[in-house]
Amino acid sequence: MHGPAGKSTSAVRITRVAVAPLVGESPPGGWSEEIKADDSIHALIAVHTDAGITGYGSAFAEGRLVAAGMKVLEPLIVGENALEPERVSEKLHQNTFWMGRGGTLTHCISGLDIALWDILGKFTGLSIGRLAGGRYRDRVTPYCSLLMDEPSIMADEIAGYSESGFRAFKIGWGPFGRRDDYKLDEAIVEAARRALPEGGKLMVDAGASDAYWPNGLKWALRTADMLADHDVCWFEEPLRPDDIDDFVTLRRESRVPIAGGEVLTRRQAYLPFLMRGAFDIVQPDVTKVGGLSEQRRIARMADDFGVRYVGHGWNTALGLAADLQLAAALPNVDLVEYIGGSAYVDDIMAKPFALDAEGMLGIPDLPGLGVSLDPERVAKYAPDAAGLFT
Ligand SMILES: [Mg+2]
Repeated sequence: MHGPAGKSTSAVRITRVAVAPLVGESPPGGWSEEIKADDSIHALIAVHTDAGITGYGSAFAEGRLVAAGMKVLEPLIVGENALEPERVSEKLHQNTFWMGRGGTLTHCISGLDIALWDILGKFTGLSIGRLAGGRYRDRVTPYCSLLMDEPSIMADEIAGYSESGFRAFKIGWGPFGRRDDYKLDEAIVEAARRALPEGGKLMVDAGASDAYWPNGLKWALRTADMLADHDVCWFEEPLRPDDIDDFVTLRRESRVPIAGGEVLTRRQAYLPFLMRGAFDIVQPDVTKVGGLSEQRRIARMADDFGVRYVGHGWNTALGLAADLQLAAALPNVDLVEYIGGSAYVDDIMAKPFALDAEGMLGIPDLPGLGVSLDPERVAKYAPDAAGLFT
């Protein structure tokens, strides 16, 4: 069997894996135990092959855990055919179940799986969107994700990002729901709404996966009502991530669509939430759930249940690039998440993402993820970057 370049597919073997944790500009997450700039939260992954093609991916976890996870996974992946992302990722899942399925190793496999799809695309000359079934669209609206703050600061922030071209916004975490102050919560939402550009969209994220989230169903019901009055497009993580019964009740009662699922991993974890009707919108994270192979199964399963899918791979340029490819390949995707003001998204690529006049992002129709890292820029945030490129 031969690829378009006449290279034998059987010759494309994985030779090595490299990990480069990103540090120095880690943006705050609004977490109660706040992220510091030098904390490591995300790692870039490279998969090298004997065909001279390297694929890139991203995993959401502390860099030391990702590095250790890769040491565990490397013997299972080295020598494998780099052109079979689903089979090779499934091999990794199946053979590591006993080490804690769904945890850091699953996050690590996510980074490898994205890199394998990137290799398959680079080898065949096709974008991942085409390989995953075809391109329903060539651009999509990114929504700018911002941390909540006091009302006047919130309004200024939204005005600034809207000047740089964003038309859709999500505000979340920070003081919202954490100060036992409904009036403050509403004032933040009001200020954000007033600062939106004409026709702009606003979403609200309570961030109830934060440590010791203090509210329950009654708070979520009352807050959902308030958000509906302010024309908010969805209410995200309004409840602790495992409170499935309360999600079911909230979704049934709320006038605002209910979104969640960013901390779940593996498609199997989503199934009970979908079967029970817990979400209007599901937000799997491609850098956690098992990569593109798992993400597209979750998104398609959600669609079969009439639930919208919005990707959550927003934390690095490679996670976003993976989300963009899936946004092309699924029939009903209208948004991707885009963190406002992160160097790990805006400052590590050879050609940075750029919004068009309508605030949309083009989805690259170039081989693989369709984006390239800039080694010098990556090196600013990744002391171990050399192994990604050599
Ligand atoms: Mg969220």
